[in-house]
Amino acid sequence: MHKCQVKLNNLTYPSDFFKGLGSRSVYFLAIWLGCVLLASSPLHAKRVIWGEYQKIIAIDPGHGGHDKGAAGLQTTFEKSITLSVARFIQSELEKKYQTLLTRNDDYSLDILERTALANQAGAALMISVHTGASFSRQKTGMTIYYYDEMTKLEPEPSSVDQTPKKQPVNNDDLVQWDTVYEKHLRGSIFLAEALQNRLMDDLQVSDVRIAKAPLLVLIGADMPAVVVEIGHLTNPDETEDLKTDVFLTQIAKAISAAVDDFFANYRP
Ligand SMILES: [Zn+2]
Repeated sequence: MHKCQVKLNNLTYPSDFFKGLGSRSVYFLAIWLGCVLLASSPLHAKRVIWGEYQKIIAIDPGHGGHDKGAAGLQTTFEKSITLSVARFIQSELEKKYQTLLTRNDDYSLDILERTALANQAGAALMISVHTGASFSRQKTGMTIYYYDEMTKLEPEPSSVDQTPKKQPVNNDDLVQWDTVYEKHLRGSIFLAEALQNRLMDDLQVSDVRIAKAPLLVLIGADMPAVVVEIGHLTNPDETEDLKTDVFLTQIAKAISAAVDDFFANYRP
């Protein structure tokens, strides 16, 4: 509407044509003309293409700075692996999409800030990248997590309840961040399955699991969002793979293809 009004201000009225019309008619005619011009202009066409094809994908490299994440064998740290693979994912995705790295260097970043950055950018998807770690050096494979609140435990029944009753809270002005993700749950599971298929088929990884967990980075995400653990730093063979650019590039290509699959097949 504002753009229409800008167009209106720039118009010079052919006075003879509009003379017989009232000022209100001239106003509405000019608005109509302005909107037609805007709709048929190259600027509008570009805007439509931008909206259709230039979706923003947020990539979140886990940890950073003093938060080294999992410490692997051979002094390999999770924060370095996640940043490296995130950069490879970005270079694959930016051929087709806009991309946002929640961190692009070795510094710490609050978990909720990562989600906030993706929300503020209006990201269509968020993929947070981590590596796994286990007490067992034998444990291998990848896991894709979507958010799911753990079942709430009922409080212990007590015959004498001395707990003061909680005051009711007026939640009208609060954003219920724990429910923001709910509307993207189906999309998040769809994204997890697309990633699982690509990582198994394209990367020939036999063990790619999908699991649910109450992960803080996902809770306030206002878009389909998942955490991908791309291997175990506690497993010597997987650590060797994760240290090579070749393997990280293969992961990036598989993730990029999964994003394409998501947009090609997901119907909200
Ligand atoms: Zn991690």
